[in-house]
Order: sequence, then structure tokens, then C-alpha cells
Amino acid sequence: MNRLLARRFAGNSCLVRVPWRSFCDAAAVNSGTAQAKHAEKQRLTSHSEEYDVAIVGGGMVGMAVACSLASMSLTKHLNVAIIDSNPALVNGITIKKEDPPDPRVSTVTPATISLFKEIGAWEYVQQHRHAYFDKMQVWDYTGLGYTRYNARDVSKEVLGCVVENKVLQSSLLSCIQNADIRKTVFPARLTSMNLNPSSIPTELNGTSSTSPWRGFARLELSDGTCIHAKLVQVGADGSKSNVRELSGFKTTGWNYAQNAIICTVEHTVENNCAWQRFLPSGPIAVLPIGENFSNIVWTMSPNESSELKSLTESDFIKSVNHALDYGYGPHPKSSSARDGDLSWFGAGLTSSAGEGFTVPPRVVRLASERMVFPLSLKHANSYVAKHVALVGDAAHTVHPLAGQGVNLGFGDAFALSRVIGEGIAVGSDIGEVSLLRRYEAERRPANIVMMAILDGFQKVYSIDFGPLNIVRAAAFNAANYFSPLKRNIISYASGEQRLPLFT
Ligand SMILES: Cc1cc2nc3c(=O)[nH]c(=O)nc-3n(C[C@H](O)[C@H](O)[C@H](O)COP(=O)(O)OP(=O)(O)OC[C@H]3O[C@@H](n4cnc5c(N)ncnc54)[C@H](O)[C@@H]3O)c2cc1C
Repeated sequence: MNRLLARRFAGNSCLVRVPWRSFCDAAAVNSGTAQAKHAEKQRLTSHSEEYDVAIVGGGMVGMAVACSLASMSLTKHLNVAIIDSNPALVNGITIKKEDPPDPRVSTVTPATISLFKEIGAWEYVQQHRHAYFDKMQVWDYTGLGYTRYNARDVSKEVLGCVVENKVLQSSLLSCIQNADIRKTVFPARLTSMNLNPSSIPTELNGTSSTSPWRGFARLELSDGTCIHAKLVQVGADGSKSNVRELSGFKTTGWNYAQNAIICTVEHTVENNCAWQRFLPSGPIAVLPIGENFSNIVWTMSPNESSELKSLTESDFIKSVNHALDYGYGPHPKSSSARDGDLSWFGAGLTSSAGEGFTVPPRVVRLASERMVFPLSLKHANSYVAKHVALVGDAAHTVHPLAGQGVNLGFGDAFALSRVIGEGIAVGSDIGEVSLLRRYEAERRPANIVMMAILDGFQKVYSIDFGPLNIVRAAAFNAANYFSPLKRNIISYASGEQRLPLFT
């Protein structure tokens, strides 16, 4: 049935069309009947709606691509399709102020906050619960060392902001919904695609040079819809990306044999610091999420995570407090910058170097369900091909220990849309691989460095070995007291592209 349906986009009055549906009935074509061939020829030669950019996956990163395209004068005229079966894209996301924070949160870096401000999405984040933090304490169970980071060490106001994923997603939805760009949401999943128009049977479309879809990628969706993307098809469909699979991109990676257990907890006081303690089987992080709530991300072996998930609430809370206080080992000895033994650091001392070790606020209540995620590292060997670019978790999945995953994805989203704009400025075909390689050249090295650092951290902290423990403690202490190193670590973790080296 060919028709135009009007749908409300994200619960707002902005209408988004679920367009003319051209059914891709491969079975009918394959049956070889004259009727089927005629129907297929009709479909191929009729003027079905076509898109400049098809974004497969309307998660946080896919929506960031759409918003970024909508925010730039060179790309705001594009006709964009967003494909995702998540009903939130059509119905919107309900966020109730009185509900406790969702356990799925992201720590967004100052670089991401700036990009969100540029595209006009941060104003929506600010309408909901979010928690800036300007302090962070990292230590390990051996009690040999700790580091305190403070935003003022790098003359910044904040180190980051913790935001529920549903708030980020809903803010990007509001942003695109109010943007002046042609966008169509397809509430379906991508099931197959054809990136090479010349592979359409010649008896159906005449010679390939006369194919109406030459220069298009063809996408088939789970509801039978078939659309054509003229230029770029963006794989933003997460770590199990279908676009990556269907395009034949190879990946490198491994499973960590670790799970992350996440949940929201409550304290009796407000928490405004991010805490991370490395334990023998992985780090536990306590991230402020507003009011007296914090988010817990606790990494451990799959067996331990099953045990912890099935504990009663009070036993689970005891385990969390144990892990954040004297459990597994002693507190590190607090040092003061005023101590004579630090004088040799001289002017290299950071202003936070003298801050003593602090125990995180005690957890008194579990405020959400406990969710468990298996952890892995996965990296696409290439991010682009003709008509295709991978972004976000489709291109790279990283360990969550430094809360960088979606920040890398946002970096991809903005870089890709900028490259598309540059292509339009010089009249290039934006599906051309030579143009898309510029995006890959910018993002791949940056992502690889971050992945290597996170993987290295994961490995170094997976070993409980006396001499290594001392080296790690020395590294903590160096990072705590030596300001060029500390400043570089903070800048890099904030999303600035410089490596954490002495500069
Ligand atoms: C425990 C944990 C904690 C984390 N904490 C942080 C943090 O603090 N900071 C941070 O930066 N990152 C963090 N991350 C990583 C972050 O969650 C991911 O990087 C991020 O969700 C990736 O976003 P994405 O849009 O690329 O993919 P996804 O969020 O996976 O979205 C993919 C979308 O594609 C859709 N889709 C899938 N297949 C298809 C298909 N065939 N057709 C159409 N649509 C499809 C899905 O419905 C979904 O909407 C954490 C991850 C974990 C597991």
C-alpha cells in the first residue's frame, strides 16, 4: 500500500512523515514471474522518496549526527531518514521529576558539553536532572596511593557532568524535532541493504547506467519498507551493528570476562564528587547524579556479578559500602602538600595535591534495579566504505572504566557531519569514500589511543602482584603531585585531543 502517513514525532506537534512505502518483496522477484518482474520494474523506476542521509540507529550517537547536520548551514537542507524501532523516537520519552534517576547514565566530558551547546541540545539537558562535578578521587585497594583531581587544576569549572541516558536521548530528540531540517523517522529495523546499485538485475532496470537508483544505497526495513539513501548511510546501530555486518566491515576485539553491575543508590547527604576505587576484580565508580543520589558502576567477574545481583538489598548495600571503605585493604595515607617530603615537587605541585584522602559518602538505600552488562572491546578495522560510515559503538566499544564510550561516539557524530558539510561546500558526492576517509582519518587514531589507554588500565588493574602494586601506587602519587602530568590527564579525559604526556 503506497501512502503517506502522518506521525507525531516525539510527542510534539512537529509532523514527521512515514513515507511512501515501496515493498521489497524479494520473494516475488525471485519467483521470476512476468508480473513480479513488472512490479519490481515499476518500483525501481517510480519516484519513491529518496534521502540524502539515512541514519540507521536513533540512539544517542545517531541522534547526535541528525542534530549536528541540522545545526550547520551547509547541511541543514539535507533530507534525513532516521531508522530505529525504538518507540521512543515516535512517542517521545517520559521523564518524571519525582522518579529516582535511571541506572543508565553517562559521564559527559566538557568537550561533549560544548558540542551539545553548539547544536542547541544542552539547553534541553539543563531542563532535567544532571549533575556537574568538579572533583574526582581515584585510589586502589592496596592503600598505597591515591589521586585527587580538581577542575581548578586546569582552570576549568567542571570535570564533567553525569546525565541519565534517557535525558541525553530526549534532549537530542527535542533538538531535532525543533530543527529546521527535513527528517523522517522509520519505526523499523534495518534488515538488509544493497550498497551497489549496479547489482540490481539488468533485466529489471535496463542498463546499470540508466538505473534510477545509481548512486544510491538501498535499505530494506523490518516492516517491508524499502528506502534509498542518495549519499551517506550512517551506521549508528550500536555494538552489534547490522550496518557493520551487512557492509562486511571486519572487527578486532575481545571479551573482558568482566561484567558491569550498575544501579542508582541514595546517600544521606548530597554527593558532588566522582569516586573510583580499583578493587582486585575491577573498579567500582560512584558518580553523582543529583540530590542525594549516585550511580554505581561496579566491574567484576561474571560469577561475582550474578552473586551481587541476587543479594538482598541490605546485603548489596553492605557490599557497596565495604568496597568503598575498608574492604579489600586499608585507606591510603593522606599526605599534605605542606609536608616537607613533597617540597621537591616545588612549583610543579597542583592546587589539589594537598587535598587529603576522603571516604565517599555511605550508601543507605538502593534506588533502582540492578542491571548487568558484559564488557568487551571491539573496534571496526575500517569506519567507511562507499555510502557507509560507522559511528559510535558500531565503530568502537570500549571498557566503561573512564566513562568515555558515548563521548567518543559524539566526537564521531560531529566529525562526520562536519566532513559532510565540507564535501557539500566543494560540490563533492558525500557518499564518496575519498571524502568519508577524511572522517575516518580524524576519528580512528583518536579512538584507538583512547581504547589503548582504557585497555591498558583494565589490564594493569587486573593483576594483583606486589611489585606491580607498588608501581601503580607510584603512578597514582606522581599523578597526584606532578602538575603537568595531572593537567594532561584531566585535559585528555575532558575530551581534548592531547595525549596525557608531559608537555
Ligand atoms: C555499564 C556501562 C556504563 C557506561 N558508562 C558510560 C559513561 O559514563 N560515559 C560514556 O561516554 N559512555 C558510557 N558507556 C558507553 C555508552 O553507553 C555507549 O557508548 C553508548 O550507548 C553508544 O551509543 P550508540 O548510539 O552508539 O549505540 P546504542 O546506544 O547501542 O544505540 C544503538 C541504536 O541503534 C538501534 N538499532 C540497533 N540495530 C538496529 C537495526 N538493525 N536497525 C535500526 N536500528 C537499530 C537501537 O535500537 C538503538 O537505539 C557505558 C556503557 C556501559 C555498558
